[in-house]
Amino acid sequence: MKITNIVSTPLSIPLKWPFISGIVVNRANPVIVQLFTDEGLEGIGLAFTWNDQRVKSLLACIDDLKPTIVGQDVFRWAEAWQKLWQDTRWMGHQGYPVYALSAIDTALWDLRGKAAGLPVARLLGGYRDEVPAYASHLLFLNWSIDQLQKDAAALVAQGFRAMKMNMGDNPPGVDLERLRVVREAVGDDIDILVDVNWAWTVPHAIQMGREMEKYHVYWLEDPLPSNDPADWALVASALDLKIAGGETLTSKYDFRRVIEHKALDVLMPDLQRVGGVTEWMKVATMAQAWDLPVASHVFHEFSAHLVAAIPNGLTVEYMPWWDFLYQEPLPIKNGYIRIPDKPGFGLELNPEMVKKYAMK
Ligand SMILES: [Mg+2]
Repeated sequence: MKITNIVSTPLSIPLKWPFISGIVVNRANPVIVQLFTDEGLEGIGLAFTWNDQRVKSLLACIDDLKPTIVGQDVFRWAEAWQKLWQDTRWMGHQGYPVYALSAIDTALWDLRGKAAGLPVARLLGGYRDEVPAYASHLLFLNWSIDQLQKDAAALVAQGFRAMKMNMGDNPPGVDLERLRVVREAVGDDIDILVDVNWAWTVPHAIQMGREMEKYHVYWLEDPLPSNDPADWALVASALDLKIAGGETLTSKYDFRRVIEHKALDVLMPDLQRVGGVTEWMKVATMAQAWDLPVASHVFHEFSAHLVAAIPNGLTVEYMPWWDFLYQEPLPIKNGYIRIPDKPGFGLELNPEMVKKYAMK
């Protein structure tokens, strides 16, 4: 089976819950990447950006890979990935060229699942059919104390056993009070995860981490602005609290440095930034060799398959920003996502919704 064409469709979706987490985010821009084949099968992947910014750059990066991928044998997955990687080599293997590669690689795995008649989760390993997910779509910095408590309690009532809140530029007392009220609202049995989105210094992160340990915070995510794992390791080694991170890292090479430095307790490769499904799985295998768990970053409709495929898959980040784009969004029940018994990622686009939100 060979690729005959690639079509990308950028969308602009106003967020139901606009949020502040370092930046103000009020629109999401998934770019649907469709691969067509000479056997009539079609595969989909997603790239993404925010706030209607840099959409043209992203589209250009995807279009530039068209000559590389058209004519490619779908089942030669290592060859396909290596060609795409080689094609983006002179850009330094960071940013949008790798986002483009990632979306194409993801669509290729959708095609392989469809051709085999298997969900991607089973094609890649089939470790389990149901994966825990944590709520990550509420509890941002712009939530009032009242709203934090109300939403945290509502998430528990919906069946979530874990949820993430944000901290950032607030004075420590304010951030810790926000944590206290969330803990109060959810009780002792729920896991609270804290994402800092790269806002703190090493001493601040260590000081805050020690305070957070008193509230049994499950993980502290991306505390530092530096992308240097040597800095992350200073925080990880000082705290009992788990340190999670890595959503902006690219490829096995970036994660190799994380592992070498013992910089993280939970690896969070992002499917759309790390280099697609192929590279995500390689990072997960490397992590397993060091007994490190792997959690996914956004795009639960794709990522849940990857976490379900592997023995060291920890949890799936649940952010239902664009569920309405699909005929049947991935179901979540009592904090678990069940992998649908459908070929590929099991996702069928809703053409009316795609048309409604397509960027002009
Ligand atoms: Mg994060």
